[in-house]
Amino acid sequence: MQHCRTPVVEVLAQLAHVPLSYSHHPTWNRVRLMSQLGRLGIIGVGPSAIYVLQQLQREIDRFLPSLTDVYLFDKRTALGIGMPYDRHTTDDYNLCNISSAEIPPLDQSLVHWLQSLSDEQLSSHGITRSQIDEGETYRRTTLGDYFQQQYTSIASSLRARGLILHEFRNCAVSDVVDQRATDGVEIRFGNDESVVVDRVVIATGHSFLEPDEPEQGYFSSPWPMQKLIPDEGQFHNFEIGLLGASLSAFDVVSSLSHRHGAFIRRDKLAYEPFPGTDGFRMVLHSAQGWLPHLQYEQMEPFRTVYRPVDRDTMLSLRDDSGFLLLDDYFNHVCRPALTVAFQKDRRADIVELLNTGQATLEAFVQRMSDEHTSDDPFALMRLEMQDAKGSGKSLNRRKTKRSYVCRNRKQRSGHQARISDVHQLQRPGRARF
Ligand SMILES: Cc1cc2nc3c(=O)[nH]c(=O)nc-3n(C[C@H](O)[C@H](O)[C@H](O)COP(=O)(O)OP(=O)(O)OC[C@H]3O[C@@H](n4cnc5c(N)ncnc54)[C@H](O)[C@@H]3O)c2cc1C
Repeated sequence: MQHCRTPVVEVLAQLAHVPLSYSHHPTWNRVRLMSQLGRLGIIGVGPSAIYVLQQLQREIDRFLPSLTDVYLFDKRTALGIGMPYDRHTTDDYNLCNISSAEIPPLDQSLVHWLQSLSDEQLSSHGITRSQIDEGETYRRTTLGDYFQQQYTSIASSLRARGLILHEFRNCAVSDVVDQRATDGVEIRFGNDESVVVDRVVIATGHSFLEPDEPEQGYFSSPWPMQKLIPDEGQFHNFEIGLLGASLSAFDVVSSLSHRHGAFIRRDKLAYEPFPGTDGFRMVLHSAQGWLPHLQYEQMEPFRTVYRPVDRDTMLSLRDDSGFLLLDDYFNHVCRPALTVAFQKDRRADIVELLNTGQATLEAFVQRMSDEHTSDDPFALMRLEMQDAKGSGKSLNRRKTKRSYVCRNRKQRSGHQARISDVHQLQRPGRARF
């Protein structure tokens, strides 16, 4: 998509209630015209598009009657699912790192949707009724089915209000061209086909542009995961290097480990490789030696923890050019929020550091990183697992995110992870990455 310009920003700004302080902006006149918006295009119908539609639904009286048509394009047949939650890209062993309580509210929460399913349907998601809990995390494909249902529900409610929704399924958009003369946007797809709308939202999410080179033994990303999974009865009897040791790498670990062995719980959970898989091994390489964050139970809702200031305060922090400087963000938003958090955690040393003003963003990050430094990040992760399990008993903890760094980075080129270690950490009761 080469020619796209301001209309995208304008639609998003309008949907997000741009404050009047924006009125000095050169595009404001066009933004004001949004109340006369007739046709809206949305490219990519994943979770972001669902939230755009939800915003339309909430503000529908501002858009009607001038808004008449919404054109929805997705290169997939099913709408609403999104790339990370789609069975075409994701394996059933790949888990969400977000629970029902943390998903920004839609018409129906994930938990309520799960409760509405039959036992048989739940079992197809690997869930029993007693496992339904708003703090629990499930397969990503389960979240995809939920999002698809939410899309259908919001779409039908918009139709009921008189909007015409045009769904272009299985339709990859190839370009978006701003038409200055008519103040419209042309959306191009297929063989020279196009639709002209007044404004467009691009919500195409993730793209992995670098090509795979399977004959060189190289994949630029694990997606779709199916390309990495051996055929039934076949094994990858060789060492697999993973460039990166965070969430995508752990998806690969979970998908491939289940194809090459079984996780058996006796005294503790152990990994037993299938016969004939002696050569199978995965090595995670991480430039910094970081492993993914482990998150666990908290009292405060997720959104409270991560929204210590309101929108107006945030906007007031912009400089004359409209930019929010990282240092200003740290000093005005993070520093006070961190001070409160560390006071709760009785960390007077860090509170003092923050209050003296000596802790720049870099210094603070360095200090926190130094606290979690070890020659063996997996050993540290195990320690945090114990913490996480303990947190179930005392729910007055805040959610903690930590990362683990190898102390001697220069001497270590990668983490040699035993699969059993990794898996034990990946399904840790109520803790998760
Ligand atoms: C592997 C992975 C796992 C993740 N797991 C989690 C998680 O567990 N929890 C969490 O909160 N977040 C997770 N995320 C973050 C994730 O980005 C968001 O949760 C969410 O998927 C973003 O939604 P989106 O609609 O912006 O993009 P996407 O979900 O990527 O959806 C984009 C949509 O656009 C369509 N599209 C793309 N290009 C075109 C085109 N040219 N024409 C037409 N249609 C097009 C796609 O088919 C897709 O339907 C994960 C991200 C990745 C990559």
